[in-house]
Amino acid sequence: MARRPFTPTREAARGSLTGLCATLLPPEAGGPDPATLAGVVGGYLARTPHPVEPAVRAAAVGLDALARLLDGGRLVELDLASRERMLDRLAAWAPTELLLEGLKALVLLTHGAATFADDLRDRSGREEPVRPDADLDVVPSRHWPASGSADVIVIGSGAGGAMAARELARGGLDVVILEEGRRFTVEEFRTHHALERWTDLYRDAGTTVAAGNPPVMLPLGRGVGGTTLVNSGTSFRTPDRVLQRWRDRHRVSMADPWAFAALLDEVERTISVAPVPAEIMGRNGELTLLGAERLGWSSGPLQRNAPGCGGCCQCALGCPRNAKFGVHLNALPQACAAGARIVSEARVERVLHEGGRVTGVRARRPDGSGFRVAAPRVVVACGTTETPPLLGRSGLGRHRQLGRNLALHPAVGVSARFEESVTPWVGVLQSAQVDEFHAGDGIMLEATAMPPGMGSIGMPGHGRRLVEELGRAEHYASLGAMIADAPSGSVSRIGSRTVIRYQLGRTDGHRLLKAIALMGRVLFAAGAREVVTGVPGVAPVGDVGRLDEVLGDADPRRLHLTAFHPTGTARMGGHAASAPVDTLGRLRGVEGVWVADGSVVPSCPEVNPQVTIMALALGVAGGIAARG
Ligand SMILES: Cc1cc2nc3c(=O)[nH]c(=O)nc-3n(C[C@H](O)[C@H](O)[C@H](O)COP(=O)(O)OP(=O)(O)OC[C@H]3O[C@@H](n4cnc5c(N)ncnc54)[C@H](O)[C@@H]3O)c2cc1C
Ligand code: SF4
Repeated sequence: MARRPFTPTREAARGSLTGLCATLLPPEAGGPDPATLAGVVGGYLARTPHPVEPAVRAAAVGLDALARLLDGGRLVELDLASRERMLDRLAAWAPTELLLEGLKALVLLTHGAATFADDLRDRSGREEPVRPDADLDVVPSRHWPASGSADVIVIGSGAGGAMAARELARGGLDVVILEEGRRFTVEEFRTHHALERWTDLYRDAGTTVAAGNPPVMLPLGRGVGGTTLVNSGTSFRTPDRVLQRWRDRHRVSMADPWAFAALLDEVERTISVAPVPAEIMGRNGELTLLGAERLGWSSGPLQRNAPGCGGCCQCALGCPRNAKFGVHLNALPQACAAGARIVSEARVERVLHEGGRVTGVRARRPDGSGFRVAAPRVVVACGTTETPPLLGRSGLGRHRQLGRNLALHPAVGVSARFEESVTPWVGVLQSAQVDEFHAGDGIMLEATAMPPGMGSIGMPGHGRRLVEELGRAEHYASLGAMIADAPSGSVSRIGSRTVIRYQLGRTDGHRLLKAIALMGRVLFAAGAREVVTGVPGVAPVGDVGRLDEVLGDADPRRLHLTAFHPTGTARMGGHAASAPVDTLGRLRGVEGVWVADGSVVPSCPEVNPQVTIMALALGVAGGIAARG
């Protein structure tokens, strides 16, 4: 009989989780009741996909066993000093330090969300939405027949899929959009608990990771509207230098800056892009602009697609005002007005083909039953991480570059303590940019906060120190930076599971450290007393000299990285050997399959990518519609 991996029972793990909570946030120092907090953590874990919950349980039980070995008792039985000593030991060794940081992030995320739950609901419900939910022709898959047909099927309703579907429907084609996620309403964003919104809106309840050294957290949206439901609304046009590279090196004629400008204009009109108004910028953004101004660095309010935004800082959990203008509020209703139909909760398992020509798709409902839709054209827009595995499952993954060339536009965050109250969760979540180092170094700084309570995951220390810092969370500002990376990752599949790998390049690692140095300078220039660099094991620094010193010794492979902008796994290009998708968006090797999402982006777009992806999708769909 195959041996089952060790996973402690929930019962055994509950005590260990309680001990972990009591150690990270000791009640003796004013921390929350550990048993209650452990219950909230357990509730969140119960909603995560299979390997996550048993892995966390095993880690908590393992820590308890270690405590028993070294100090003669389970964490929950030890006194405060012994518990803190235990954490110091864990933090001193790289592998356990990584584990500790992961557990700390989990505990702080759930603690923050639970603490602010009522406040969040209160603030969400205070003002009426600025627009109602859109009029969509959307049917959950359980009400969809076992077979059907269309002129064209679009798989995925996110940034790329929605724009493509609208263009195709307006071109007179009968369009069916199949979306794995469900439809969300503004009422849910106004009334549901933050953790519920988090677990519902993200693939794998927000636990997706790109494996590597270091691992990279990679949240991905899932629902009617795709990742635009949860994104920050930042809306950059693709820089001309990037477009020129795609035109000249990748031979993508559509990317010629002059021609592409028309597509970008159309996207900006559709999603209503405008600069963040000063009244809702929030102190976090203001301090960023102040710091940059004092340094003489180029900066300004970000361009966003959020007409009517009230600055409630909840974009990552779905907008409770329907102000953020994701594609569920513009391109999708426009597609439906032109005749498109959306089937939600429909995971496409295979693109079907015969004799080198596409014939339709086979999809699965949440209850496991299947259905088919026949069509002579299929546009795949499942997003950068899901499109190659779907093509692979379908027997269309023969191109050697499919699934490769993954760029992540990786991000690091820095926070800083100010004397004044910053309250970063009042104001727009992502509000201001410092672009001084963008063209030269590929580094973009963006003032980015987290929804109320969730920003505490960036707090320094553990035990008493952590409780103390949480008590003055409103004095912290936070800044994020993204770097233009070399494509260094891949997506593949093991059975039905997607596996994402990413190996941070040496140059990119050093660029991330430089980004931390730049963010620290901005925050000090704005008046910060201490900067939390995010470098593991390093105490907050009090001046630029110390900042440079700690960064000089830092190993980029130990940084805590997050990424929000995966691209490139089915890149578009004129060279048949290096690009799985041709310059019109057609998948090479089969007739009738196009790709129109982040995966076709030829290389890191160097800016937040939604506008770029939407413009490319418009270009691809325009070509299909023109051919009829
Ligand atoms: C927290 C966060 C903040 C962000 N902020 C910004 C920002 O401010 N500005 C910006 O430019 N970008 C931002 N982004 C990134 C941006 O939103 C994405 O790059 C963009 O939405 C990707 O578009 P897409 O069409 O490739 O995929 P998605 O928008 O992710 O859409 C793909 C859709 O396909 C569906 N799907 C997948 N597989 C299947 C299947 N087999 N069958 C059916 N359906 C399937 C998915 O459920 C999903 O809904 C952010 C991302 C995140 C996670
Ligand atoms: S800050 Fe974000 S969530 Fe809040 S109103 Fe503005 S767009 Fe919506």
